[in-house]
Amino acid sequence: MDTTHHSAVKFEKDADGIVTLTLDMPGRSMNVLNDELSAPLADAIAKIEADASIRGAILTSGKKEFLAGADIDKVFAMTNAEDAFKLAEDFKAFLRRLETCGRPVVAALNGTALGGGLELALGCHYRIAIDNPKAQFGLPESKLGLLPGGGGTQRLPRLIGIQAALPLMLEGKALKPAQAKQQGIIHELASDAADMMAKARAWIAANPQAAQPWDDKKFKWPGGDSKSPANVQMWAIAPSMASAKSWGNFPAIGNIMSCVFEGGLVDFDTACRLESRYFANCVVSQVSKNMIGSLWFQLNAINKGKSRPEGFERSKVTKLGVLGAGMMGAGIAYVSAQVGIDVVLLDTTQDAADKGKAYSAGLLDKDLKKGRTTAEARDALLARIKATTAYEDLDGCDLIIEAVFEDRALKADVTRKAEAVLAKTAVFASNTSTLPITGLAQASERPKHFIGLHFFSPVDKMPLVEIIKGRKTSPETLARAFDYVQQIRKTPIVVNDSRGFYTSRVFATYVMEGIALLLDGVHPRSIEVAGLQAGMPVGPLALQDEVSLSLSLHILDQTRKDFAAEGRPYVGHPANAVIEKMVRELDRPGKKAGKGFYDYPSGAHKHLWDGLATQFPVASEQPAQSELIDRLMFAQAIEAAKCFEEGVVETVADTNIGSIFGWGFAPHQGGALQFINAHGSAAFVKRAKALEKRYGARFKPGKLLLRMARDNQAFV
Ligand code: NAD
Repeated sequence: MDTTHHSAVKFEKDADGIVTLTLDMPGRSMNVLNDELSAPLADAIAKIEADASIRGAILTSGKKEFLAGADIDKVFAMTNAEDAFKLAEDFKAFLRRLETCGRPVVAALNGTALGGGLELALGCHYRIAIDNPKAQFGLPESKLGLLPGGGGTQRLPRLIGIQAALPLMLEGKALKPAQAKQQGIIHELASDAADMMAKARAWIAANPQAAQPWDDKKFKWPGGDSKSPANVQMWAIAPSMASAKSWGNFPAIGNIMSCVFEGGLVDFDTACRLESRYFANCVVSQVSKNMIGSLWFQLNAINKGKSRPEGFERSKVTKLGVLGAGMMGAGIAYVSAQVGIDVVLLDTTQDAADKGKAYSAGLLDKDLKKGRTTAEARDALLARIKATTAYEDLDGCDLIIEAVFEDRALKADVTRKAEAVLAKTAVFASNTSTLPITGLAQASERPKHFIGLHFFSPVDKMPLVEIIKGRKTSPETLARAFDYVQQIRKTPIVVNDSRGFYTSRVFATYVMEGIALLLDGVHPRSIEVAGLQAGMPVGPLALQDEVSLSLSLHILDQTRKDFAAEGRPYVGHPANAVIEKMVRELDRPGKKAGKGFYDYPSGAHKHLWDGLATQFPVASEQPAQSELIDRLMFAQAIEAAKCFEEGVVETVADTNIGSIFGWGFAPHQGGALQFINAHGSAAFVKRAKALEKRYGARFKPGKLLLRMARDNQAFV
């Protein structure tokens, strides 16, 4: 047997003339596509080409996963389109050699193959995967503002058809082995590694002349090429449907469609070359830099515990108490039981507690119908939730999350009652959305163990939890709260106690600016469209209706009272007057009541209330749409920078990720601080000052921003 061990690729030739190439990069837990891997791969293909006794090759991995994808550090650092073009062309040249080497090549996929990993597999003639439910296959590049530049946009449509391939790439969906097989991406499943290798050998023996279908002169596209009648119809509407969703904010979306459409009109090699051009365009785009910076590097840093205090062992919650089985408490119970935590769900009446538990049953029944869970799994999850009114049931809980009505005295009362039965070591968390944690902790006998865990609604869908440190919260309590948030598979950000914490405070500036625009005579429809065009998930007026105007007014009244009690002057937002008028004069408290900025006729779509024009007359001259977008976005970015300056948020990663995951800050901008970086701090401050002059002090950049602009610095 001829065995050569390159640094990252093991080359083994057996007596039958079958070569096994094992990707196994030294010193790394996963294989990634970079020079360290591609150089020995190129050597290996040269050896195969030169050796006529080789009858076939099997490509597999020595790690748990097959190949995670391209080296993102390298792509992120690239600012030159020519370099990016060359990167894509070099990889494709290798894949071309692989698939035209005249010998059958099998990808033996022992685990996940994403992005460049799947593209490598697509360059093989046959794909066999171990049926491991944790393995994922997909081309997720668009999630980071990129596109598959290793031939993925050409091989996948030629393999499974244009209409099946497009959504997989546009949405960046990852498939399980069985799904990938069903879609025709994987040919065969194997039960384990030995079975996979045996199947690979058998296929090589049976297919000595293997070649790719697209290299066959008589190749026919499955479902037709771009000119086929069905695809022509699809191409007539797909781009406009995509831009109606993305508002043109994601260049990768348009570029992927162009690759597939144009690639579907030309021969394979020309198609590959045009893909490299679109890939280069994505790589050097500001959007991919924004998205990779925050949604890859910063998110990874958070997941690795950047904001978690060091020196405390990882902890796990085994029994959780949830006080208040309302909307939030019910959701918190569900996501916790989902990861195997025993939950005690407590309310004032058994009926209310049962109703909270029924929320989980409802979600699970829906999953069951859709085949996403089994009856046993549902019953097991429900058995972990105990609905009760008895505080004694909280005995043995290592964490309590309080989610009763937003009322200080009530929260103090349940805190005392719960602590009476809890072990001294238990952590007590409040899910308050507005009340300062330090104040709530005064009701606690152990303020060191008291912390804020601010969930978002609906709890089962929203990926973020904002952890709030009170003045007396201990680092150990923070570490344990952090671990719990990760245990329920959500992303934690850590903030200091302050009015509105971080997310609610900055989120409010978006909604309030939208309302201020209304006051300035801007047509309400333009305001909503500006929000969507800016990349926000919902227009500001619709969002205010969802939050409810009456709740905002309640918080406003409370804030005014608090300021008066502290003897501080309260500087209101111009939008306050609109909210007061809407609730107190016009009786339009929001969506729940069926009337706010919108009307919500039953059984029909909501529409902007036609009385708005009378109450807030539309000016005869309307500002440019870009002015509206700037107001909506600068208001948020300036406030986020202030939160960072004041130490409410302590890291750039938490600030950016908190903005995207918490209230949907335009993801293509990479978060509220990255928005400033992308402008350049000097240009940002210049524009902010112009907005301040025209619209008021809320656009005044803080001291930190002024200093950064002077020194030309960025948030890092
Ligand atoms: P909710 O009105 O739906 O639920 C509150 C529940 O608490 C009710 O079931 C009520 O019966 C129960 N309750 C009242 N007094 C109690 C007591 N003494 N003991 C036990 N249970 C008691 O309210 P919600 O929307 O779930 O909000 C709960 C908390 O979460 C509030 O502090 C709120 O500010 C906060 N919060 C809400 C949201 C949101 O979007 N709704 C988001 C983040 C945080």
